[in-house]
Amino acid sequence: MSSELDPAIWPASATRNSAGEITIAGLSVTEIAAEYGTPVFIFDEADVRKRARDYVAAFKVDDIETSVHYAGKAFITTKIAQWVNQEGLGIDVASAGELEVALRAGIDPAQIVMHGNNKSVKDLERAVEVGIGRVVIDSLIEIERLNSIASSAGIVQQVLLRLTVGVEAHTHEAISTAHEDQKFGLSVASGMAMAAVDNVMESDALSLAGLHSHIGSQIFDASGFELATHRVVDFAAQIKQRHGLTVSELDVGGGMGIAYVAGDDPLDVTTMAKSILDIVRTECARVKIPVPKISVEPGRAIIGNPGITVYEVGTIKPVELDSGITRHYISVDGGMSDNIRTALYDAEYTTTIANRVSTGMPVISRVVGKHCESGDIVVRDTQLPADIRPGDLLAVAATGAYCRSMASNYNHIPRPAAVCVNEGKSQVLLRRETIEDLLALDGGLS
Ligand SMILES: *Cc1c(COP(=O)(O)O)cnc(C)c1O
Repeated sequence: MSSELDPAIWPASATRNSAGEITIAGLSVTEIAAEYGTPVFIFDEADVRKRARDYVAAFKVDDIETSVHYAGKAFITTKIAQWVNQEGLGIDVASAGELEVALRAGIDPAQIVMHGNNKSVKDLERAVEVGIGRVVIDSLIEIERLNSIASSAGIVQQVLLRLTVGVEAHTHEAISTAHEDQKFGLSVASGMAMAAVDNVMESDALSLAGLHSHIGSQIFDASGFELATHRVVDFAAQIKQRHGLTVSELDVGGGMGIAYVAGDDPLDVTTMAKSILDIVRTECARVKIPVPKISVEPGRAIIGNPGITVYEVGTIKPVELDSGITRHYISVDGGMSDNIRTALYDAEYTTTIANRVSTGMPVISRVVGKHCESGDIVVRDTQLPADIRPGDLLAVAATGAYCRSMASNYNHIPRPAAVCVNEGKSQVLLRRETIEDLLALDGGLS
């Protein structure tokens, strides 16, 4: 247990003021909580921008054209889309809703890429209508669908094919023979991917811009990219042989890992970028094809660490464990509705009292929410001071990605506000929902 804020985990500007309160970009979380209520997501704008900028810089090389897209599903609002776009990133979207956020943010549609294994006709129509840069094809049926939409619109839509190459990477492990028993992509091994190439080549309304592969999340080293790129490049060589087409673009996906807890040790962006680009050079040389344009799609690596959640502690319950030791169940005013990752993936988080520094004895603690589920856990295993009390603020680090974006209204709890701070000033990214917002959906009341 520590009141210190590990810079590998917390937002770049996070520190404690003389009162012991955590501050983000110079503003104390106590003030932010007073203004916006709790739970509240707080983002360090300068930190988001810096991570975005660092990504572009790390992938900028003389011999390969590269681009970086921000995976909007991690968390997207119009302001966030503008920040990352101003720093040189395009935007990945996975639905008409995410697309609309990017468009309302003023992002050039040519810099937007649409993903998804079941894009609806409406999703695709909207994408084609606005002139989206790339559609990432995920099934044979989608080729028919998009072909007919693009034909009717009288345009040629640039597409990438999402390949399933039997590689799955999580943290330190890359599994080379990962079973293909999952919903994403066109399997190379089964021949579905080549059938997709044939179909796109036959279409007058679709143009095969390139290939795409995304191998997982929380990837800490480049070995998974090496394995995947090996197979993707083999496939590119087969396309050349079969159709005489040189694949001009290769999107290696996202999934670059971040530190959530002490000991998490992902590659830094410069090293990761260098490894990925070296792998691409080596693999293309091996099969004697020119190095294509390379794209990457980080989400978590941009927005994860710059965001935190601040909760207010409501109740504390000592529970005696079989071993005779006591665990404190610390209940906060949110839970699985604003952070489902602990329940869904056994995700681990770092937490600390945010409104003061305590010298209390560390006690084995579990931070839980206010929902009607015993699995409603925010931080499964941590230590917090014995003197923690109702009204204290708890900050949970690295909740910027896949928390607010996955939030629900379970128990009719309005979803929290997300605010950003820059140079001591806060702004709303998303306002807090109200119970009235939720009741407005109720057909019995309209
Ligand atoms: C989820 C996803 C990403 C981003 O993943 P992160 O772990 O947030 O970097 C990128 N590309 C695709 C296709 C994805 O599905």
